[in-house]
Amino acid sequence: MTLDRSHFLVDGDWRDPATGAIVEVIEAATEKVLGTAPLAGTADVDAAVAAARAALAGPWGRTTGAERAEAIRRFAAAMKARGRGTAELVSRENGMPRSLSVGANGFSPAITLDYYAGLAETLDADDVRPGLLSRTRVRRGPIGVVAAITPWNYPQALAAMKIAPALAAGCTVVLKPAPETALDAYVFADAALGAGLPPGVLNVLPGGREAGAYLVEHPGVDKVAFTGSTAAGRAIGEVCGRLLRPVTLELGGKSASLVAADADLDLFTRALPEVSLANNGQTCHACTRILAPRSRYAEVVDAVTDTVRALRIGDPLDKTTQIGPLVSAAQRERVLAHVDAGRRSGARLTAGGSTPADLGSGWFVEPTVFADVANTDALARQEVFGPVLVVTPYADEDEAIALANDSEYGLGGTVWTTDPERGAALADRIESGTVGINHYGLDVLGPFGGVKSSGLGREMGPEGLAPYVALKSVYLAPERSR
Ligand code: NAD
Repeated sequence: MTLDRSHFLVDGDWRDPATGAIVEVIEAATEKVLGTAPLAGTADVDAAVAAARAALAGPWGRTTGAERAEAIRRFAAAMKARGRGTAELVSRENGMPRSLSVGANGFSPAITLDYYAGLAETLDADDVRPGLLSRTRVRRGPIGVVAAITPWNYPQALAAMKIAPALAAGCTVVLKPAPETALDAYVFADAALGAGLPPGVLNVLPGGREAGAYLVEHPGVDKVAFTGSTAAGRAIGEVCGRLLRPVTLELGGKSASLVAADADLDLFTRALPEVSLANNGQTCHACTRILAPRSRYAEVVDAVTDTVRALRIGDPLDKTTQIGPLVSAAQRERVLAHVDAGRRSGARLTAGGSTPADLGSGWFVEPTVFADVANTDALARQEVFGPVLVVTPYADEDEAIALANDSEYGLGGTVWTTDPERGAALADRIESGTVGINHYGLDVLGPFGGVKSSGLGREMGPEGLAPYVALKSVYLAPERSR
């Protein structure tokens, strides 16, 4: 079966690209071409935005929440039916171990869509409030045409976190996925067609940075939903600020795992691969800084080192693999440059630090641990986006909190303790959009997002619907005027 794609999904149909630009999607483990996809130019973006605008002005823009819920549930079922294949496809594109991809890419889109289908139904409720002068009817309509721009690391989950609330609110969407994972984006297109979503409600066109930038500024776009690097997020935020265009930004992170003096280290190290190294470290909320109490410092360093050294590196499609290859040669070079800087900084390398010798192809980097890393070191401050952890000692809990919070970022974080009250108190003091106690688990029911340079706004939960809803207060005629 060929994985090549040659069209965009625009206005409910396959549209010929305006230019001949294509991307070759390379399989991370084999370094061979997995398939090709067209890359959008400005004319393609224009057509997609026009289709989304037309759909908004058409019957879709007048649907009830209950009608949309039905359509979204059909879409969810079509996504779910493709789930296993999708999980494998993404693993081949970006190297994500299959054990993670099945949930993160295979089935999470359907779960997210079903969840927001339920919330769509709540939008139909009549909200009339008594007021001082008259009653006010609060109307919840769609904010309009949404530009959804996504990265390659969790391409399916992150796209669904935008598409699902947007459709629930009655918006229409132009999805621009990252070129590295252009192929799996077509699952949304195929499922939308299969589920009979009305033409133009979801438009899918892979494209590069320029296409993304053009889409963000497009006069036909009403809201931008972006996940990606902090650098790109700043650029997009500047444009949206100038245009006064609503924008949600989910950006980078350098989160901390605060290991309290009473922590259960077995529990901590069992969870470490998932909490700190998920998707080969290419996870925005990964807890890549480990803060260890001086009283147990050597024990924590040894436990982290042993755990990381024992991880199984290999073919992402093998169910037992824990660490797969990175997404691209460029990403591996970036990660190895961080590791080299770490070696030069005087930090103590206790695990990894190189590329595995026994794997013939694939952009692998050994999971790596540096101990004795000062929080001021570049390795503790910059997002590596690869399997590289640092361990930093602290004297007491006040210092631990100060270290955790001394970061440009604030997206994830964990606290490890056997005392629930201490856990809750420490979690409260960490400056971050999300914190886990003795685990970390993103949940569709809870708002997810960052503070500081990790972003603006929230996705997931009812809060994730709000950015797509336009509120209008209609001040009803006073009793005496009727
Ligand atoms: P990236 O910012 O380079 O690209 C992300 C997407 O934005 C791609 O589709 C890209 O084509 C597009 N893009 C890039 N510059 C743009 C611009 N100026 N205008 C419009 N579109 C633009 O990021 P990446 O390298 O693909 O992904 C890795 C980054 O994403 C990491 O920093 C990671 O932490 C972050 N991330 C954050 C979250 C989160 O929820 N906070 C989740 C996953 C990834």
